Amino acid sequence: HAKRLGGDRQEVFRPILRPLGKNIVDLESDLRDAIRKETLGVVFQPIVRLEDQSIAGFEVLARWTHPKRGKITPTEFIPIAEQSGLINELGMYMLDKGAGQLAFWQKELPSEQPLFASVNLSSRQLLKHDLINDVKAILSRTSLAPGTLKLELTESLIMSNPEYSAKVLERLRNLGAGLSLDDFGTGHSSLSYLQRFPFDTIKIDQSFVKSSGSSSRPVLLRTIVAMGRDLGMSVVAEGAENEADALELYQLGCEYAQGFFFGEPTSADDASKLLRKMASERETAA
Ligand code: C2E
Ligand code: MG
Ligand code: MG
Ligand code: MG
Repeated sequence: HAKRLGGDRQEVFRPILRPLGKNIVDLESDLRDAIRKETLGVVFQPIVRLEDQSIAGFEVLARWTHPKRGKITPTEFIPIAEQSGLINELGMYMLDKGAGQLAFWQKELPSEQPLFASVNLSSRQLLKHDLINDVKAILSRTSLAPGTLKLELTESLIMSNPEYSAKVLERLRNLGAGLSLDDFGTGHSSLSYLQRFPFDTIKIDQSFVKSSGSSSRPVLLRTIVAMGRDLGMSVVAEGAENEADALELYQLGCEYAQGFFFGEPTSADDASKLLRKMASERETAA
């Protein structure tokens, strides 16, 4: 199992390689089970317009409660899925559930500006030859408003194969998928990537937003927001945890925010309740 764990990780894991190796194989097959039996959880975290705090869309996030071990976080199980190749199946499952739920909302709870849903994509999925056809099939099956199904990708993902990634992203964009650059500011060639790849949205990593940051943090945050806007992109700030964060982002001219202050990731049913509440509040105000 040493190979499976990959190059630089091997050293860190060596002292406990055996038990960990076995655990990973077990977890892998349990995760495969969860996907096939559709017990893998799908939750939705609101992304709000700072201007009026209305819900513009949701990020779709995976949740896993293991039958014996209890809750396992995505930062634990996503790497396992990536190493085993299971990420393709997991990714399609999330796309399918996310797009399906979004189609339901667009039909049942229509809003002036159509709601969007944003689904995370792993590097390995980008290399999968039929990704384009899979996304195309989902889009034609759901007939979503154009650009409202967004794919979130990180810089490190694209960096591993920039030429090929550029081609795939171009094709996804042409199909009518939105593209968000996730965790912006944590990678390496951020600035050139904004020009080189057809992203329409940047998501500023929460490390730039957290109130606890260093003294240069507000300058960086302001600069990223201004740059995104000047490039004509939508800018979403991640990790708005309190009112002060939200207010700062609003004052900097950031258009959208996501974070515990506005809502934690919740079930589709609870997200529907939020949307209904928002719609009825809008009606009373009008
Ligand atoms: P991400 O794509 O950057 O997702 C945002 C993460 O920040 C989520 O963690 C979310 O719960 C968390 N978050 C949201 N608001 C706040 C806040 O105000 N404060 C703090 N401290 N955190 C906040 P989560 O759900 O644990 O996911 C972690 C990462 O796992 C995600 O980061 C994403 O990279 C990955 N992931 C989750 N679901 C999927 C999936 O379906 N596919 C793939 N490929 N990756 C996924
Ligand atoms: Mg994301
Ligand atoms: Mg993110
Ligand atoms: Mg993040």
